[in-house]
Amino acid sequence: MTQRAEHDPEVLARTKVLDGLKQAEQRTQQAVEAQQQALLDARQAATAAQRQLSGMESSAYEKLGAERRKVELRVFLYRLALTLPLLAVAGWLFVKQRKGTYWPFVWGFIFFALFAFFVELVPYLPSYGGYVRYVVGIAITVLVGRYAILALNRYLERQKQAESLPDQERRKELSYDVALARLAKNVCPGCERPVDLKNDKIDFCPHCGIGLFDRCGHCSTRKSAFARFCHACGTGAQSGRPATEV
Ligand SMILES: [Zn+2]
Ligand SMILES: [Zn+2]
Repeated sequence: MTQRAEHDPEVLARTKVLDGLKQAEQRTQQAVEAQQQALLDARQAATAAQRQLSGMESSAYEKLGAERRKVELRVFLYRLALTLPLLAVAGWLFVKQRKGTYWPFVWGFIFFALFAFFVELVPYLPSYGGYVRYVVGIAITVLVGRYAILALNRYLERQKQAESLPDQERRKELSYDVALARLAKNVCPGCERPVDLKNDKIDFCPHCGIGLFDRCGHCSTRKSAFARFCHACGTGAQSGRPATEV
């Protein structure tokens, strides 16, 4: 039976065909495996390339950030170089010249410098996490506060000195227009404290003793001690400031 089957030509032919098919299957299997290997290699290469790209990108971002900070700082320094002299000149003008003849120009320049400072410089301060702005804010507050306190102290000191001067001296120190403005506000021109000017019994400031009303040397009418001329007879005031003085 076995003998017969081995020599049966039909069986032999089929076995041969089967062998051929098996070989073809094996080849195909190998080709599939080769493709799978190629796929795996390609995926690994893609991952490696992606990693390399991320590494390059992160280092490039670092460089870009550093370069941007450098540019920001340079722009800020240029703006500082332009704004700081303006601010310094404005500060000097404020301290020395704000009451001079050219005060409108001086104040115009001061406002211009402040505008330049707040619009051209402050928004370009490098932030460093916001600390620079805080420090600048604190420094400005301290400077302005110190100046205001010193100015107030000087004013009070002047006021005290003025009050210790004799009546005639103090009257000379006061500008005519300032005295009139203070009288209009019902305050003493000498010490700026409230005084009842309507009361014709009051001739002197009850706070500082400066003469508020006196009598005309010609017609003896009671008149303001700060008036340059008697309102009743037109005689120049002897006790007040000379009429020619401004
Ligand atoms: Zn007074
Ligand atoms: Zn008179």
